[in-house]
Amino acid sequence: MIYFDHNATSPLHPAARDAWLAASEKLIGNPASQHRSGQRSENALEEARSTLARFLVCDPQEIIWTSGATEASNTVFHHLALSAGDTDELWISAIEHAAVLQSAEFHFPKSRRSIPVDENGVVSLNWIVDELKKQRPKLVAIMAANNETGIVQPWREVSELCRERGVSFFCDATQWLGKLPANGLGECDYVIGSAHKFGGPPGVGFLKLPANKKIRPLIIGGKQQESRRAGTENVPGVLAMMAALVIRETGLAKNQHAERQAWRDQFERSLNSALPAVRVLGSNQPRLWNTSMVILPDTKCAFRWVVKLDKQGFAVSTGSACASGTEQPSHVLDAMDLSPSEITNTVRFSAGWETSEGDWKRLLECIVSVALSSAFVRSCKRTFRK
Ligand code: PLP
Repeated sequence: MIYFDHNATSPLHPAARDAWLAASEKLIGNPASQHRSGQRSENALEEARSTLARFLVCDPQEIIWTSGATEASNTVFHHLALSAGDTDELWISAIEHAAVLQSAEFHFPKSRRSIPVDENGVVSLNWIVDELKKQRPKLVAIMAANNETGIVQPWREVSELCRERGVSFFCDATQWLGKLPANGLGECDYVIGSAHKFGGPPGVGFLKLPANKKIRPLIIGGKQQESRRAGTENVPGVLAMMAALVIRETGLAKNQHAERQAWRDQFERSLNSALPAVRVLGSNQPRLWNTSMVILPDTKCAFRWVVKLDKQGFAVSTGSACASGTEQPSHVLDAMDLSPSEITNTVRFSAGWETSEGDWKRLLECIVSVALSSAFVRSCKRTFRK
């Protein structure tokens, strides 16, 4: 199987596996215990905190470990809701991941505003500039890069604008981390990230807090992490996450992502010339180097593509949930004003660091041969009509 679904989850990197095994075997003490074994675990967590803080450029004490980005996001909105007044607003981009959108909806059911995106899938800076002149919300939330399209968002500019106006800024960096340098994210008040998107294990992530380092915990029942997140820390998970991030940051510092981006770009050019009806979303925008989201022609349901490519040995994903029979269109593509038929024909290819140029070429050949098979197109139309 050639795996093109790294934005969903990325396989464990061998260095992360080694770190996980070593920590499980050697760091047996509870980090809260006072004996030397416990202190060794606590020291390892502190070292991991310092490494992450160095990458993000922030104070290590601003970081708390979580079970992933969803918990980190819930923690932020839970915290803010407890101190929000009736008129305090939350401004949140229309293309956030459900982990952010739904926890914001839950905690701020009445006072949310959706920040629009343009047809290129980029959050509207003009909207933010104009609205900030009139009002100061409690928080502005913009993701660093979108999980479906890979389109990079103007988080640095929005962070700066928010700082000038004294407004808190939240950045979901889950898809950015490990694919682009973490440097500078530490300037955002809140940042969330997740290990399994860059070669760490699932079930571990982090939340970076504002400089005052305070948060009302979502999970209570212990004094761990300075009472900011109860529960024994996942020491092997954290160390494995950081082992993977160190490898990714090293690759980024050596600009090793540039050639990978060139392979993806070549794939898109060749796909367009073989199948001119194909449209690549965000092709003229800065995007994550690993992601290609395309509207494929004539099949009426992207899920059929997923099944067909799966049978040919490629793991890819759709931009809509037509597979489930519920026909729920992707809110991201909807926000970009794609038509319902475009949304149902959208397929995402997301590579990893280990994906080769040959893998992209094989994917191209497979898509083209499937697209040119008229039997496939006919069967898709039949399925759609049912
Ligand atoms: N945010 C984004 C952009 C994501 O892509 C994901 C995972 O799909 C999440 C948040 C949730 O991450 P986790 O699986 O760590 O809860």
